[in-house]
Amino acid sequence: MNPFPVILSAPSGVGKTTIARRVLERRADVGYSVSCTTRVPRDGEVDGRDYQFVAHDTFLAARDAGEFAEWAEVHGNCYGTLRSEVRRVLDAGQHVLMDIDVQGARQFHAAFPETVLIFVLPPSGEVLKSRLSSRKSESRERLLVRLRNARAELGEVGRYHYVVVNDDLERAVDQVSAIIDAEGLRHDRVHEVEAQVEALIAQLEQEIHVYSQGD
Ligand code: ADP
Ligand code: 5GP
Repeated sequence: MNPFPVILSAPSGVGKTTIARRVLERRADVGYSVSCTTRVPRDGEVDGRDYQFVAHDTFLAARDAGEFAEWAEVHGNCYGTLRSEVRRVLDAGQHVLMDIDVQGARQFHAAFPETVLIFVLPPSGEVLKSRLSSRKSESRERLLVRLRNARAELGEVGRYHYVVVNDDLERAVDQVSAIIDAEGLRHDRVHEVEAQVEALIAQLEQEIHVYSQGD
């Protein structure tokens, strides 16, 4: 297998984190890149599993030391993908799944063009608002910031290779998983395809030779 990076982007509350968790539960060939953030942890979030939660100064020091493959300020907090995380997962022979925003996805794809970009859409604006508010993770004011930013984020959909609508969760997870399977079979990702085909042609010539002797 030739592992590659996969990015999920979507406005806040669409369900990227939920989809990513399900994909990771299902597939041993996919690993998650744990990002760094200056955001405060939500209830239930675990440092080192969901994010590496760091102070602003620590984030800036890591950024200045070149530790991030990409970073961005999103909804007033800093988020960054650690090069060491991407390497850790790829070195384990797994596709590296990342939940990153539209700015980060653009930077990362420019640096690693083999990256698969998936945009996740909500079924409607109303559903997005109700998912965000039912999560109870944001104050009213912060929720409004996230909803307002969603408008600009949706405008970036054209840069993505795939679009998945997160209406029925299981279907969305199936679709993300199918995209990973199909991408793994792309001609330019399959190692030594030319050698495989040459060997097949040689076998076929042998078969033709033997068969034609029987005439
Ligand atoms: P994001 O990571 O995109 O900000 P989350 O994964 O935190 O979004 O999901 C936001 C909320 O929506 C969560 O409460 C989650 O349980 C819920 N959710 C996610 N996907 C679905 C779905 N397909 N149907 C209903 N609720 C969903
Ligand atoms: P949340 O605070 O809801 O966990 O995430 C807010 C936004 O930050 C989401 O759009 C999420 O995709 C994005 N994000 C999470 N990690 C990273 C990262 O490492 N880099 C970038 N650029 N965005 C990230």
